[in-house]
Amino acid sequence: MALHFPDMGESDSRSALLNGVREFAERRIAPIASKVDEEDRIPPEFYTEMKEQGLMSMLVPEEQGGLGLSTSLFAEVLEMISGYSGGIGLSLEAHNSLGLGHFSKYGSKELIKSTMPGILESGKPVAWALTEPRGGSDARGMETRATRSGNGFMIRGTKTFITHGYTADYIVLMAKTEKGITAFLVDGGSDGLKREQIKGKLGTRGPDTATLSFDDVFVPETNVLGEEGHGFEQAMELLDGGRIAVGAMGVGIARRALSLSVDYAKQREAFGSKIAGFEGIRFGLAELGTSTEASALLVKRAAELRDAGQPHRKMAAMAKYLSSQVAMEATRYAIQVHGGYGYFKGNVVERMYRDAKLLEIGEGTNEVLKLVISSEMFR
Ligand SMILES: Cc1cc2nc3c(=O)[nH]c(=O)nc-3n(C[C@H](O)[C@H](O)[C@H](O)COP(=O)(O)OP(=O)(O)OC[C@H]3O[C@@H](n4cnc5c(N)ncnc54)[C@H](O)[C@@H]3O)c2cc1C
Repeated sequence: MALHFPDMGESDSRSALLNGVREFAERRIAPIASKVDEEDRIPPEFYTEMKEQGLMSMLVPEEQGGLGLSTSLFAEVLEMISGYSGGIGLSLEAHNSLGLGHFSKYGSKELIKSTMPGILESGKPVAWALTEPRGGSDARGMETRATRSGNGFMIRGTKTFITHGYTADYIVLMAKTEKGITAFLVDGGSDGLKREQIKGKLGTRGPDTATLSFDDVFVPETNVLGEEGHGFEQAMELLDGGRIAVGAMGVGIARRALSLSVDYAKQREAFGSKIAGFEGIRFGLAELGTSTEASALLVKRAAELRDAGQPHRKMAAMAKYLSSQVAMEATRYAIQVHGGYGYFKGNVVERMYRDAKLLEIGEGTNEVLKLVISSEMFR
């Protein structure tokens, strides 16, 4: 069942869509989540399945062939999926919010017309390359250069930690021209592009991660996204949305970790009674349940502001900052409730604990988010 219900009213179609996602997550994602984590791989045919569900074009406007979801609805979808698999959640987040989101928002009409149908048809994720080996937080200090050459640019430099970078057919790349940081859509088959897979992620395993070297890669002028010199502002705007999405992932992970803990506490016995009866267990769940719902409200508020076209940089940063910490705390506590059983691979809460850690690092570390929040407060 595809996630598209054009003939329904807004609230009916919203709940039908979310019911469809829940059903898909339970039936198709939950059974493969542990294998995706173990192998650090999402099979290509699973991307085809997600494409058929509409999950690979969630934020692309309908006129471009996508699902055209609001940020709020997208966040709810991601929340639901990330509770079942942080790796699949990350893949959908990075592709929809950043790679494909950037191209869809800033690509010229001609480029969208010529390239978007093929991307959507392939069902393959688009990578988004900002981070460099010498630093991710200081994105302005990037060293990758794009020098004018004929009817385009020649790119030299290296990007690292790029989600989907090893397999993507297209990469949205940020590089410096003489006018400043500029975004490009790079064809993955370009001469001079080398990819090296980075193995051994702690969590959110599934989507590949790569270092990309650009050794005189030619990109035609037509593949500049938006205006030359405006790539940094575009990237920050995209990251505002990405942070809401990562916040939603945190809510999904925290909610499921707590729900699994409640289920376990109801059946595990110690000292002759269910551990669910111990205040020591219940109070931890009460505290974390409260923090989780507080972070869910922040994510919701930030998403609503973005949907309404209102300033939301501070709220998006706050949403990810709080939710990532709550996800870490909730998964840590979930392992505690599961005792020794929670500490071993094969237990869902063990995987969720590893998944949650990325949320404090990706798309702005929590330290960088505090810089963003405080600079917005002092504006
Ligand atoms: C699994 C994974 C997937 C990723 N996917 C992508 C992707 O698809 N595309 C992409 O472009 N990037 C991606 N990244 C990169 C990610 O965005 C960066 O790792 C992140 O921005 C941090 O950059 P860094 O690793 O270079 O750390 P650094 O910037 O070197 O930071 C190191 C430490 O110093 C702290 N720090 C830095 N500056 C300050 C400061 N001014 N004040 C206080 N503390 C500071 C940081 O918070 C951090 O704790 C991914 C990373 C991971 C782990």
